[in-house]
Amino acid sequence: MWITPLPPSLSALGEGSHGSILNGNYAPYRLSSAWKPTFDFTFQPSLDRDRILTLAQLGFVDRHEAVHFLGPPGTGKSHLATALGVEAVKAGKSVYFTTLADLIASLARSEREGRLQERIRFFCRPSLLIVDEIGYLPVVHGGGNLFFQLVNARYERGAMILTSNRGFAEWGDVFGDPVVATALLDRLLHHAVIVQIEGSSYRLRQHAELMPEHVRSKALIAPPAFAPPQKPRGRPPKNPQLSLSSTSA
Ligand code: ADP
Ligand code: MG
Repeated sequence: MWITPLPPSLSALGEGSHGSILNGNYAPYRLSSAWKPTFDFTFQPSLDRDRILTLAQLGFVDRHEAVHFLGPPGTGKSHLATALGVEAVKAGKSVYFTTLADLIASLARSEREGRLQERIRFFCRPSLLIVDEIGYLPVVHGGGNLFFQLVNARYERGAMILTSNRGFAEWGDVFGDPVVATALLDRLLHHAVIVQIEGSSYRLRQHAELMPEHVRSKALIAPPAFAPPQKPRGRPPKNPQLSLSSTSA
């Protein structure tokens, strides 16, 4: 069960339509073929359904807060961020969806062209800025600084949703700079809602149905609570394609 069906104008856009300013006519996300406008809360018991439904009432947008979805790959972070974005669009709010990598690439390009401030003003325009996939790809040198400038410009002026597979303690590694990470978290945790998803990958569940029971039983489908990725020790696993950390976002 989930919030509401996608309006036809949104679902019609199909894949690859992310990264647009939204005003009710555009989809704020990459629609994958696996996308469904319903979210099965029974699959993620660690999620407080009422809390998500409260977020869907969009008070956080009006209060210019930051909502963080944290958890391992496949647990529905992008799905929930997108669904909230759709709700905001339907409520007439402007929403922009991007990944951290795309956002930083865009800011870096504008900086090279001497138009950084203009680009930051552009990203300050939407009422809600969704930044997906923090922590999946290494941030390029100087990227954390660019992201900080944007976050600082939006701070207390516009809402954000951020999704990450990494805990806040790891942001120093993610951004390659503990000072920038601390400054980012200072802004992003001040007026913040943190939703930690501690559960199994919905994607792996789908794969699991195709896998024999003896493979399924090796704790791949029901990993323990979300924890920072461990440095690999010893020999690599025999089935690396089944490893949780190798699943792309
Ligand atoms: P994450 O961003 O945490 O890696 P996604 O939100 O991309 O995960 O979810 C992976 C896929 O599984 C998407 O197609 C998403 O729609 C679907 N999905 C994840 N969790 C659920 C759920 N609880 N109910 C229904 N579909 C889900
Ligand atoms: Mg994701």
